[in-house]
Amino acid sequence: MSLTATEKEELLYELWLEQDRKCYYCGIKIQLKHCELDHKVPVSRGGSDTKKNMVAACHNCNKEKGNKTVAEYRRYLQEAYGEHPKF
Ligand SMILES: [Zn+2]
Repeated sequence: MSLTATEKEELLYELWLEQDRKCYYCGIKIQLKHCELDHKVPVSRGGSDTKKNMVAACHNCNKEKGNKTVAEYRRYLQEAYGEHPKF
């Protein structure tokens, strides 16, 4: 079962508010119109289209995370940049 465009918009809005209008990954403040829905576990990897599997992310993070899971993305950032992500 996949979400309609309207449902996705509502979900994104809720997540964005809950995350204090920040990107889930890098923590920068983002405008809603620059916000993207990201699946913690990508749908292609068996993740579900439900709110608990989704976060609001900025375009850069969403793009860089790509097809990784959250755990993989965290590891990737540590290895690539020596960062210790807060998410
Ligand atoms: Zn970000």
